[in-house]
Amino acid sequence: MLDSRPPRGEEEQRLYAPFSLASMESASQINTTGMKVFQMPKKYSLPDLPYKYDALEPYISKEIMTLHHDKHHLAYVNGANAALDKLEMGRKNNWQGVDLKATERDLSFNLAGHVLHSIFWPNMKPGGGGKPGGKLADMINSDFGSFEAFKAQLSSASKSVEGSGWGLLIYDPTSDQLLTMQSEKHNLLATQTSVPLLVCDVWEHAYYLQYKNDRSAYVDAFWNVINWEDVDRRLTKAKI
Ligand code: MN
Repeated sequence: MLDSRPPRGEEEQRLYAPFSLASMESASQINTTGMKVFQMPKKYSLPDLPYKYDALEPYISKEIMTLHHDKHHLAYVNGANAALDKLEMGRKNNWQGVDLKATERDLSFNLAGHVLHSIFWPNMKPGGGGKPGGKLADMINSDFGSFEAFKAQLSSASKSVEGSGWGLLIYDPTSDQLLTMQSEKHNLLATQTSVPLLVCDVWEHAYYLQYKNDRSAYVDAFWNVINWEDVDRRLTKAKI
């Protein structure tokens, strides 16, 4: 299964971060005048899971992880790339036959889905859970009052998302504080400056095969697989 995926850059695999999603090769070439000419749009690619499909059991089953990563996440990657192709086609054909508004909507939905899933996988790890340390712990304490208050708030935000979406811990650089947010689908209710640090996928595809309609039990289980080192690393990066 792994072999069928497109090759990824070493840096992208190492960082496994949403900000290294675009594979840069073939994006442009140098013409005879030394000017860079646009050749084709940069494309997104599906990152590997940083652990095995069954690594998060018993909290998240192998079946869910396999379908979620290989089918659902891939669909967002393909959808985002299809939107890029349409935009390229529109520019070439003076927007004849391309619905720009619909394409921008597709790009927003699929790219946001790709980015959030790319954060979601390394946000988790086998043997995770517990409490954060370092700068993250200090900031959670100062912005939420306590870890317990933060946990209750993010759990509640995740459990009460209307329809499909995400519960998010974000860093808001505008006010230099941590906030929780809800995101419907992948992209609604988002603010433009927020940096997602910890994301909890509450689309039914994230839990239904194991938890049926009990989203609440799934969100409670999620706390047992959180990779706090990854969340802390994202905070450090966001604050620079
Ligand atoms: Mn998902």
